[in-house]
Amino acid sequence: MIEGRITRVSGPVVEAEGMTGARMYDVAYVGELKLIGEVIRLEGGRAVIQVYEDTSGLQVGEVATSEGEPLVVELGPGLLTSIFDGVQRRLTDLASQYGDFITRGTVSDALPRGREWEFIPAVKAGDRVGEGDVLGFVDETERTKHLVMVPPGSGGIISEIKSGTFRVDETIAATDDGKEFTMMQKWPTRIPRPVVRKLDPVVPFVTGTRVLDTFFPVAQGGYSIIPGGFGTGKTVTEQTLAKWAQADIVIYVGCGERGNEMTEVLSEFPELEDLRTGEPLMKRTILVANTSNMPVAAREASIYTGITMAEYYRDMGYDVAMMADSTSRWGEALREVSGRLEEMPGEEGYPAYLGTRLADFYERCGRATCLGSEERIGSITVVGAVSPPGGDFSEPMTQNSLRISGAFWALDTPLAQRRHFPAISWLKSYSLYIDQVEEWFASNVAGDWKQIRDKAMMILQKEAELQEIVQLVGPDALPEFARATLEVARMLREDYLQQFAFSDVDAFCSQKKQYHMLKVIVGYYDVLQEVLVKGVSLKEVLEIPFSERIARMKEIPEEEAPEKLEDLLTEIQNSLRKLIKY
Ligand code: ADP
Repeated sequence: MIEGRITRVSGPVVEAEGMTGARMYDVAYVGELKLIGEVIRLEGGRAVIQVYEDTSGLQVGEVATSEGEPLVVELGPGLLTSIFDGVQRRLTDLASQYGDFITRGTVSDALPRGREWEFIPAVKAGDRVGEGDVLGFVDETERTKHLVMVPPGSGGIISEIKSGTFRVDETIAATDDGKEFTMMQKWPTRIPRPVVRKLDPVVPFVTGTRVLDTFFPVAQGGYSIIPGGFGTGKTVTEQTLAKWAQADIVIYVGCGERGNEMTEVLSEFPELEDLRTGEPLMKRTILVANTSNMPVAAREASIYTGITMAEYYRDMGYDVAMMADSTSRWGEALREVSGRLEEMPGEEGYPAYLGTRLADFYERCGRATCLGSEERIGSITVVGAVSPPGGDFSEPMTQNSLRISGAFWALDTPLAQRRHFPAISWLKSYSLYIDQVEEWFASNVAGDWKQIRDKAMMILQKEAELQEIVQLVGPDALPEFARATLEVARMLREDYLQQFAFSDVDAFCSQKKQYHMLKVIVGYYDVLQEVLVKGVSLKEVLEIPFSERIARMKEIPEEEAPEKLEDLLTEIQNSLRKLIKY
């Protein structure tokens, strides 16, 4: 064990001498309380340690130790349904022990050691297994089969395989060269878990939110960011995604904005229901929370703890969604630590490596062929909220996130003020995945999905241009076909883009229903233009009360939607064409 002495304490940054032998990112314990931290800089025997617990009262001269091991997370059955802090201490159990505040220096196993799991072997003695191969299964929850895998870099010929109930740290298999496997793996948080190969992100990540799925889709394995000022809906969007997005596993990393926000998440999440299965949402969820008594530096640890657990479930072939709310808090942590290290500041005091740090993190999401002789494909999709101060998107954290993200879902304060929810701006947002997922939509939703989508977007953009003219000359000065465009754009905004997150029928809208709804509105636009050219007046058209029926499309149940919406479109076309007089 390496043992040194503290020479300086500056908030979460502690310097110690006599740490020869320690390496970058090794775990270090500082002071009599053994506060946990990571070595983030080394100069000879002097180590700079980023401490993940409150350092107040820590004195120069106190001891600092390191085992020369990196910060690792425990991976195995028991992760799902759990709530952890940034260094993977089980808040679920600690809360009952300590109340709302965890005593500093507390040590806790991430995976409960007392619990036993039924292990069903998948190999037999004499089998040769390699990294990623499945040794057996555990039903972690009713819906999630947990694959107990050979850890990366390991393997051999099985000499013994057990069956029955075991704790996570009991040996369940051994190889003839003396390796022993348990149901648990440990993995350093800063090192990405290996895969066989990364795959193109060609499958959309289904969110059930129309503005996202139709206009700004993110692919499975992609990375999208939601920047937005205070109160624009970042948290509601992240939680709606956690509830509805089609992911096998959800990892929610909360770096609370306000002091009590994480408390809300912690008390609300366990109550939420998975509306598809009727079971508690927590059965496929892991929460990582930064408690308010942990210093900012811990936010960085929680991001890495979260993504490592995400990789582990991806390795089993699952589609994992990781929500980070909000990554700006992580950026602030980097800024604070960098300031204390007296590094040369970049823009607005953020470290110059902010961009690379974000990019390295982003590299860990993706769709991939997992390790193991049996082919498994898994993915990690990351949705990161960004909270730019004052809603100003030109600040460094938003800009740096923007450079690496594939989809940008811009929350707009004026929209939120008008109570247009989700307040995602269709003019400022974008997605780089559209071309990649187009083929999937063409074969799974409809051949003309892209044309319909593009046309709807064109109408919305046209509306923005027309509104500028309206501001100058008033709506009556516009020609009829332009007023028709405004009317259809209004339908798109109110009857399509607006989607109430707390509605029973409309919180989730399938891609098929989205397509049919959009087809009705775009079809209405087409036939409207057609009849206007033929001398029908807009007034005559608007007298037929189709707009009410279009407004109620949202309420049509999923199963009935395709047929009812096709019928509605035919009816619209027939009625409008009847207005043509010659
Ligand atoms: P932020 O995290 O950006 O500060 P919140 O997510 O807390 O903002 O959202 C603020 C409020 O906006 C919510 O309490 C809710 O009333 C409303 N809101 C946001 N998004 C939606 C939505 N999709 N549907 C309905 N209401 C929403």
